[in-house]
Amino acid sequence: MRPGMVYIVGAGPGDPELITLKALRRIQEADVIMYDRLVNDELLSYAKKDALLVFCGKAPGSHSIPQEKINENMVTYALTGHDVVRLKGGDPLIFGRGGEEACELAARGIPFEIVPGVTSALGAASSTGIPLTHRGASTSVAFVSGTSCHGNERSVRWDLLAHSVDTLVVYMGVSRMDDICKEMLAQGKPSSTPVAIVEQGTRAEERTITGTLGTIHKIALLMNVKNPALLIIGEVVRVRDQLLKLAAEAEERTG
Ligand code: SAH
Repeated sequence: MRPGMVYIVGAGPGDPELITLKALRRIQEADVIMYDRLVNDELLSYAKKDALLVFCGKAPGSHSIPQEKINENMVTYALTGHDVVRLKGGDPLIFGRGGEEACELAARGIPFEIVPGVTSALGAASSTGIPLTHRGASTSVAFVSGTSCHGNERSVRWDLLAHSVDTLVVYMGVSRMDDICKEMLAQGKPSSTPVAIVEQGTRAEERTITGTLGTIHKIALLMNVKNPALLIIGEVVRVRDQLLKLAAEAEERTG
């Protein structure tokens, strides 16, 4: 039997309208859709009526499906002739283990295609009005993992990042926020360095909280910040304040 195609697809950052046309088409044509927790459910309504929808994330209070099992299922569906969409939040290759899945497919000789998505750092930052690069404030940006829960993860060189990159966007950093801020301070970053937390970026529930390396941890506790959320560290956070101020002044002038 001819194996099916596997599409490793980015679903975008949360707002279902931020998916690409190509990704949407793959969803509409798939026999099986294996989707992660951060994927907006609305996107599943575009699937064929008889498509098999398989949740591959971690449901609250239960364990996540081991990556090996996900790989195995994906391979089995394809080898039995089904076209599979492996649907992941944001971009499938940014902190999404999509690269590992692609390697597995390549090694097993299964045809696959990777469809990029808008990663949450880009979606959340633009949506809340923080330009990750900005003339005079930032000429470089890095995407950083705030966790090393996978054990074999390379550790992040906060010492180098603190002084070589203007804007840091930290994924999976909410639960380790205190440590991350302390690390940046220990590396000599001023405690007045602005920090934003964007929770549920691009979704209707999007919330942005701002503070500094010295204050954000306490503010986040008070505001009960929850995942999914990103930390944005750098002077560019002030541009959002400026935007809000300019817009408010304009509204006052024009009524
Ligand atoms: N592949 C995904 C990232 C997966 S890692 C992407 O490209 O976006 C999961 C982390 O992404 C979360 O812990 C959170 O830090 C971030 N994240 C994903 N969606 C988000 C959203 N809508 N708002 C804020 N952060 C988000």
